[in-house]
Amino acid sequence: MSTLTGGCHCGGVRYELTGAIQRFAYCHCDDCRKIGGAAYAAALVADAAGFTITSGESLLTPYPSSPGKYRRFCRVCGSHVYATMEQRPNIVIVRAGTLDAPPADLRPQMHIWVDAKAPWYDIHDDLPQFPQGFVAR
Ligand SMILES: [Zn+2]
Ligand SMILES: [Zn+2]
Repeated sequence: MSTLTGGCHCGGVRYELTGAIQRFAYCHCDDCRKIGGAAYAAALVADAAGFTITSGESLLTPYPSSPGKYRRFCRVCGSHVYATMEQRPNIVIVRAGTLDAPPADLRPQMHIWVDAKAPWYDIHDDLPQFPQGFVAR
């Protein structure tokens, strides 16, 4: 995969993503909804080994949104850039909206945590829907 770049809104935090993207999901869970203030989050699950913060590491503030899961925000502009999980140290969860110029073929594959979806939001696509997290089927 070619190198993708991204960062927070103020530009203080910058990253490179070279590793494989394992999944691209719209997440409707309570945590993503509250933290983003939006209907859902666009989340890329990527190999941690291929994710590098290239500047602004000191600006990133970890927030434990659930046990072992740390959502990392830029403390200047508030962008939620990515998250890590102690239970799964080999992956990072990158907020797709923080990418600079994602290729057109990088497409969401599924909706997850649809049971927690905001009642005022209707899903208008044919992607697979999972009531909770992703399970292979
Ligand atoms: Zn920032
Ligand atoms: Zn979520």
